[in-house]
This record gives sequence, C-alpha cells and structure tokens, in this order.
Amino acid sequence: MNIILLGPPGTGKGTMAKEIAQQYKLPHISTGDMFREHLKKETALGKQAKTFMDSGKLVPDEITISMLKDRIKQKDCKKGFVLDGFPRTIPQADALSKSTITIDHVLNFTAPEKIILQRIGGRLTCRTCGMMFHEFNIPPKVSGKCDKEGGELYKRDDQKPEVVKQRLATYKKETAPLIEYYKKKSLLQDIDASGSPEEIFEQIRSILD
Ligand code: AMP
Repeated sequence: MNIILLGPPGTGKGTMAKEIAQQYKLPHISTGDMFREHLKKETALGKQAKTFMDSGKLVPDEITISMLKDRIKQKDCKKGFVLDGFPRTIPQADALSKSTITIDHVLNFTAPEKIILQRIGGRLTCRTCGMMFHEFNIPPKVSGKCDKEGGELYKRDDQKPEVVKQRLATYKKETAPLIEYYKKKSLLQDIDASGSPEEIFEQIRSILD
C-alpha cells in the first residue's frame, strides 16, 4: 500500500505517518527528515538544501526528486510506504506518476490556521534523537530534556514564527494545487486534523482498513 500524506505544516502529518508506519508495517519516508539527516552529516546535498530550508522555501525539485527516487528503490519499500512531505509541487507529483509506482491513497490533512500556528510555534525537538515534543500539548517530563535519553530540546530554525509564515505561504503557492491534482485522480480523502491524535488516527484507519 502506497500512501501520500498531504497538508500544510502543523497538521500532524509526521506524527500520523509514524503511527501508520507502525500499525501497517510500512516504511515512513519523510523528505524533511532525509534533508535534516544530510544537514547533520554535512553532506554536499545537505549544504545545497540548507539555505532553502532555513528560509522556509522548498529545495529545488531536481534534488528532491532524485533523492526520493533513490529511497523508494530500496528493498524495504517493496510492500509500500508512507510518504510524508513528498510530493510538494506539481513536478514532484508528475515524477511520481510517471514512475512505475501506483499511489493508493492521498490523505489530505486540514486544520484552521490558528491551530497550525499554535502547534508549530510550541514544537521542541531533541538534538540527539530527533524526538518531538510540544510546550503545551506534549510536554517533556523534565523541562528542556528529551524523555528518551535526556538529550537537549531546542526550537528548530524552521519552527520560528517568521519562517513558519514563509512555510505556510510556500505551502499555499506550491503544494495546495496538489489537492485538485489528486482529486481529479479520485485518490484524495480529507482528514480533519484539528482534533486529538486518537481522533485523527481513527479517521485514517477507517480509510485504510
Ligand atoms: P518538513 O519537515 O517536511 O516540513 O521539511 C522541512 C524542509 O525540508 C521544508 O521546509 C523544505 O525546505 C524541505 N523539504 C522537505 N520536503 C521537501 C520536498 N518534497 N520538496 C522540496 N523541499 C522539501
């Protein structure tokens, strides 16, 4: 089963992608995580991606498409995958539809902008393991420290208010047209992402089961 999660940042796609991956035994492929991994390792690709990521803009299609294609060629993707954060532009979606891959579901996460800003603004990430927390919604047991192994929690540059605004603007301009794109292919299903993680997952389960 090949699944795409679509929607603006802050609608909980990452959390749900992990949950789907676990429950349905599929690899979770996040192009954002892949780029962050390259940044951490200071690879050439990471250096290319950095300026775009830091300013809330999209990494050019050519780089992103080739990285994603390499990833889904890997063995663990044979039975399917959950794509989180890809495609984000029409050329990316076209590249996918021209490949041999068949997409089964496109889940379109929606939530009011007020909720989105509140969710992203409070996010905290562990510097060591990447685990995510939220100042109010998912507070760590000890302030500023990751529950897993006590790594330092920090606010990612792309979760700061001015960058969040740019990311939302980028989403509206570049990614929102994919809603119509997948609607026309009769693949799109809306997910009301304003509720709790349990409520959101219930909607997803009723579609995938
Ligand atoms: P994310 O964690 O999915 O919000 O991704 C973080 C950043 O990585 C984005 O703001 C983009 O700069 C870059 N990125 C992730 N996925 C893509 C993609 N499919 N196309 C272009 N840039 C991407």
